[in-house]
Amino acid sequence: MNYDVVIIGGGPSGSTAGSFLRKYGPELNVAIFEREVFPRDHIGESQLPGTCAILHEMGAWDKVERAGFPIKVGATYRWGRTAELWDFEFFPRQNFRDEPRPAKYEGQRRATAFQVDRSIYDEILLDHAAETGCQIFEGTRVLEILRDGDRVTGLKLENGDIVTGRYYLDASGHSGVLRRAMGVQVENPSSLQNIALWDYWQNADWAVEIGVGGTLIQVLSLGYGWLWFIPLGPTRTSVGLVIPAEYYKKSGKRPEQLYAEALAEDERIRSLMRNATSEGLFQTTRDWSFIAARHFGENWFLIGEAGGFADPILSAGMTISHAAGREVAFTILELERGTKDAKWLKDQFEVRQSSRIRNHIRFADYWYVANEQFADLKEYTKEIAKDVGLELTPEKAWQWLAQGGFISEDLSIGTGTFTLNALKALGDYLHEVEIESPFSKYNVFRLDLSGATWSDRARYLEGQVLDTPSYLRGDRILPVDGVFDLLLNILQRESQLPRIVDRLKQVGERFGDDFQARSNMLVTAISGLEALALDGWVKPSYDPSLPIMELKSGYFAIHWNQDPPITTSS
Ligand SMILES: Cc1cc2nc3c(=O)[nH]c(=O)nc-3n(C[C@H](O)[C@H](O)[C@H](O)COP(=O)(O)OP(=O)(O)OC[C@H]3O[C@@H](n4cnc5c(N)ncnc54)[C@H](O)[C@@H]3O)c2cc1C
Repeated sequence: MNYDVVIIGGGPSGSTAGSFLRKYGPELNVAIFEREVFPRDHIGESQLPGTCAILHEMGAWDKVERAGFPIKVGATYRWGRTAELWDFEFFPRQNFRDEPRPAKYEGQRRATAFQVDRSIYDEILLDHAAETGCQIFEGTRVLEILRDGDRVTGLKLENGDIVTGRYYLDASGHSGVLRRAMGVQVENPSSLQNIALWDYWQNADWAVEIGVGGTLIQVLSLGYGWLWFIPLGPTRTSVGLVIPAEYYKKSGKRPEQLYAEALAEDERIRSLMRNATSEGLFQTTRDWSFIAARHFGENWFLIGEAGGFADPILSAGMTISHAAGREVAFTILELERGTKDAKWLKDQFEVRQSSRIRNHIRFADYWYVANEQFADLKEYTKEIAKDVGLELTPEKAWQWLAQGGFISEDLSIGTGTFTLNALKALGDYLHEVEIESPFSKYNVFRLDLSGATWSDRARYLEGQVLDTPSYLRGDRILPVDGVFDLLLNILQRESQLPRIVDRLKQVGERFGDDFQARSNMLVTAISGLEALALDGWVKPSYDPSLPIMELKSGYFAIHWNQDPPITTSS
C-alpha cells in the first residue's frame, strides 16, 4: 500500500489525473481510492467541447463515443431580455451531418461535446484509468488523512489499512476530504446561493431522436429560478430545477412539491415530459460557488470540485475538473523530472485553477444579473450585482465582464466558454447593448506594451509544463504564444490594418490548399487582434488615408430558436 501517487476519488478529475500520470509516466505507481462501487449516478451531465479534447488526449474519447451518448452542439435558452427561446451553438446545427456512430474525433466532432449519463461515463473513465495501469480500489472510503504539519503522511481507509504515497491528490469532489483535513479555507466570491433539485426520467419526448443529431441542453428561466433538461441516452433524461436557497426557505414547500410545480408550470417542459415516468431518484444539493484558498501543499494537490465550484448555469464544471486532472498530472511529471523550480510549478498550477474557477463564477454572476426573466428574483440579482460592484443594469454587467480581459490563461480568445464574437453577439439576446468592434471605426493598430512586466507562465503540453513568456499588466495577461506570438511579430513591424491583414494572408499561404486551416488561422488571428485592442495591448486609431476594413472575427452561432412549436395537445 505504498504508491508514487495516491488519488482520493474516482470521478472525472481523479480518473483523468490517473490516466495522464500513467500515459506520460508509465513507471509511476498510481492508486485511486473510490468510496462507491461504480456504476453510480452523479450530477453534472452536460459538457463543453473542451472536455472532448482532453478525453482524446488521454485516449478515452473513442470509448466514450462508443457508449453512444447524445452529441451536444449547444444550448437552448429562455434567458435575457425576452421570453423567446434562443440557441447558442458551438457547431451550427444546420451544418451538423448525421454520421454513423461510433465516429472518430475528427471533422465536426472536434467542435461538439457529449451529454453524458454519469453512471456510465464515470465508469468508462475509471476503467480507462485501470487500463493505463492505475490500481483502482472501489468501495474503499478514505476515512482519515494522516498529517505532519502541511505534509500528508498517509491515508487511513475504512477497513483500517494505511496507504502511503509521495504525492496525494484530493479528487473527492464536494466532500473535499483532504482539503478539509488540511484546514484549507474556502472563499465564496459570489452571493449566488442556489440549490438544485433533480430527478431522472424515462421516455421524455426527444429521447426518440437522441443519437441521430446534435442535441442542445434546455436552460429555461422561470420567474424564480431555472430548469435544465438534458437528454442522456435513448430513453433517459435529467431534469433539474435551480432556485435560490432563500426562495426555497421562504416558500414553506417541500422540495418535491417545488420541483413538481416547476415542471408542470413550464409549457415546453410539460410537453416534452408528457409521456415520461420518473425513476424515483429525486435528489437535492446546494450548489454554492466556492474557491479553495490554496490548491496545493507540501505533497498534495486539490483537483476538480474539491478545489472549487462555479454555478452549473454554464455547464463548465466537468471541463474545469478534467482540465485540473490533466494539469496536476503534468505538474507531478515535471516535479519528477526535477528540471524546473518546484515552487514555480505548484504556483502556476494554483494560479491556473483558481483563475479558471473565478472566471466562471464571475461569468455565472453576469449571466444571472443579465437575466430579465427572473421576475421574482429582482432583489436577488440586485444583491449579486451589488456584491460585485455593479448597479443592476445589463450594460454595467457587460462592461464588467468585458473588463475581466478577453485573453485568458488558456490561450483562448473569449472567456474560456464563449468566444469573443459569441460574447459580443450575446448582447442582442441578453439585453440591448451594442458591443462595438474596433474594426468598425479604426484602421491603425499600434502595439502598446508600456508598463507591462515580463514573466514565465506555464503551458501544459504532452505531459510537460513548458514556460511560455507572457506580458503582464494589471490583471491582464498576454501570453507570447500561438496566435499572439504571430500577432506580436507582425505588430512590431506594422500598424496599418491593411498591411497587418496582408501579412496574415502571407502566413496563411503556408497552409497551401488547405482552405480550412488557412481560414481558421485568419479568423483566429483577426479575433486575437480584436482581443488585443479590447484588452489594451494595442491602441487603435483612425487614419483617413486608409480604408476601414470590415473584418469578421471568429465563428459564432446564436440565433432565435427555430424548433417547431411543442404543444401538449399534439
Ligand atoms: C446541480 C449541479 C449541476 C451540475 N451540472 C453540471 C453540468 O451540466 N455540466 C458540468 O460540466 N458540470 C456540472 N456540474 C459540476 C460537476 O458535477 C462537477 O464539476 C464534477 O462532477 C466534478 O468532478 P470531480 O471528479 O471533481 O468530483 P466528483 O465527480 O464528485 O467525484 C468525486 C468522487 O470522489 C468519491 N469520494 C468522495 N469522498 C470520498 C472518500 N472519502 N473516499 C473515497 N472516495 C471518495 C465520490 O464517491 C466520487 O465518486 C454540476 C454540479 C451540480 C452540483
